[in-house]
Amino acid sequence: MKLTEIFAKHTYSLSFEVFPPKTDSVYADVQTATEQIARLRPAFMSVTYGAGGGTSKYTLRIAEGIKKSCGVESLAHLTCVSSTKETVKERIADFKAAGIENVMALRGDIPQDRINEDRSAWAYRHAVELVRELKASGDFCIGGACYPEVHPESNNQKEDIRYLKEKVDAGCAFLTTQMFFDNNLLYNYLYKIREAGITVPVIAGIMPITSAKQVERALKLSGSFMPRRFLSLVDTFGNDPSAMKQAGIAYATDQIIDLYANGIANVHVYSMNKPDVAESIQSNLSAIIGKNA
Ligand code: FAD
Repeated sequence: MKLTEIFAKHTYSLSFEVFPPKTDSVYADVQTATEQIARLRPAFMSVTYGAGGGTSKYTLRIAEGIKKSCGVESLAHLTCVSSTKETVKERIADFKAAGIENVMALRGDIPQDRINEDRSAWAYRHAVELVRELKASGDFCIGGACYPEVHPESNNQKEDIRYLKEKVDAGCAFLTTQMFFDNNLLYNYLYKIREAGITVPVIAGIMPITSAKQVERALKLSGSFMPRRFLSLVDTFGNDPSAMKQAGIAYATDQIIDLYANGIANVHVYSMNKPDVAESIQSNLSAIIGKNA
């Protein structure tokens, strides 16, 4: 089923993300975690695409398993910047053959050693090119990424939103946000993108921070603003793993309740292959998401 149909059916949706293994040796662990998360019956599950595409076969295998064996709708990610046109065409054909209906079209991060290259000869420079290709090659429900705190490479938010509009006009049926820890940043951003004429559903991406180590990684990955309230929680509980986990889950839950209460109907949790974290959040929200139509 297309995610847009799922969003239309839910008053509040909660979904989870998993990432593929890097090697065959840990495939079984990821599969087990995926199946445990799927047992929570989320609205859908997304499967990320390894940078550079090295783990692409796993993305497809896991996304197909979620849909066919677990009976949960899946969203397969696909990146393009380090790929040739032939490879992307092959991936799209593989997705189609496997019955994947929902694809997240991403540019991917530019590898460190290619940042200063002349990009004019690259097969793909921006996600919009992949969106157009997906749109032309099948009946996919296509998603795109968006950045409430501005993409790190953008000169300013106005420019970032102008390119986002181009991406949506090319065929994105929904957008998922980069993680953020202050909901006001999203509310402000939504106001601006709606003003710019972007009307597709925006799925709020929430990352539960359950260890002090994760704070550094999240900051490096997203450059997100960390509110004082969140930082004092890390200062106080960061050295106590079980207390930090509980506090991080409570913070994420609180963020999600505030989002639902302010009209953001769809929340995607970056659950990082952790079924226990996904389950705790889901259970904290059970009476709320139980109210689905
Ligand atoms: P784009 O939409 O191409 O935007 C990148 C930058 O280029 C922005 O600054 C934008 O303003 C600018 N831009 C866009 N179009 C144009 C244009 N026509 N002309 C000039 N400038 C333009 N990475 C992975 O490797 N695998 C994943 O599975 C993955 N999943 C993600 C999921 C989400 C929800 C998010 C938010 C990010 C994800 N990423 C993933 C990271 C993502 O690949 C990086 O953030 C990447 O740097 C940008 O990808 P994009 O698709 O947003 O790019």
